[in-house]
Amino acid sequence: MTGADAEEPTQGSAPGVSRQAALPGMPTPLYPASPSRLLAWLDCPRRYRMQYLDRPRPQARPQRAHTSVGITTHNVLRDFWDLPPGRRTPDGVAELVRSSWIDVGFRDPEQSAAWRLRVRDAVVDYLRGADRERQPVGIERSVALRTESIAVTGRVDRLDDRDGELVVVDYKTGRQVPTEEDARTSLPLALYAAGAARTFRRECVRVELHHVPSGTQVAHVHTAESISSKIDEAESIATDLRRVDAEFADLGVESPSFPPRPSPLCTWCDFRAHCAEGQRMGPEKSDWAGLEDRSDVGAEPGWARGE
Ligand code: SF4
Repeated sequence: MTGADAEEPTQGSAPGVSRQAALPGMPTPLYPASPSRLLAWLDCPRRYRMQYLDRPRPQARPQRAHTSVGITTHNVLRDFWDLPPGRRTPDGVAELVRSSWIDVGFRDPEQSAAWRLRVRDAVVDYLRGADRERQPVGIERSVALRTESIAVTGRVDRLDDRDGELVVVDYKTGRQVPTEEDARTSLPLALYAAGAARTFRRECVRVELHHVPSGTQVAHVHTAESISSKIDEAESIATDLRRVDAEFADLGVESPSFPPRPSPLCTWCDFRAHCAEGQRMGPEKSDWAGLEDRSDVGAEPGWARGE
């Protein structure tokens, strides 16, 4: 997953809020365009509705094991930088993995124990290649960006200062190894770079995806034009969301703007139990299937932090 969004703003996430924009004389509120909200809409309008609009919110399925692995890895890579320099050792990492392990979704205790060791080794190998003396500028740092129509919030896994250059680092832990194309086209990464530039009042154009299991690191250096084009893209998606949110406020689940979009991703969807069309896409993946072959998933789902 990309860096996680910061706390989801509540504005605009519940029925009725969008109606406020129509009151005469009142300025139109900025749309709370978190990257995960925007991507949820692009993935599947029905899932977007269930995740952000339906109240009460339909119950999501329990967390899967690969999400536990992703969250643990992110937490260890966060807490590592709080260790005193003398504790930034393989033993220090092993202790962090042990103490923060999330034992949820695994097939059995043996699988959980094996993956705990695997995560420990992967993080140690990853950090072996890192400059452990250079403290990042930010860890899970919230950044924000406001335009004339949207308010973007996000949380960057790591912000580096490399010889005066601000760099966005996003950890990946899924099976899919990211490519430079992924770094170039990622909407969240571009928005994080723009948000970091605004927050720190410094240029930030370099974004990186660090795939912890393989040690692969890919980067893209944006231009002012490419960042601007990504912001335009976010504003365009948010324009659609503002419209469908308002429609939902009027029509509720009768709104035709939230059709299901069945795809192979449905077998992983957290809201599949509430979606007959998605259930027809095949049997649901087991809790630990994400630790195995995910070749049927064409793109990183980005449904949970750490994937
Ligand atoms: S199961 Fe598929 S179609 Fe249904 S909400 Fe989930 S992603 Fe959308």
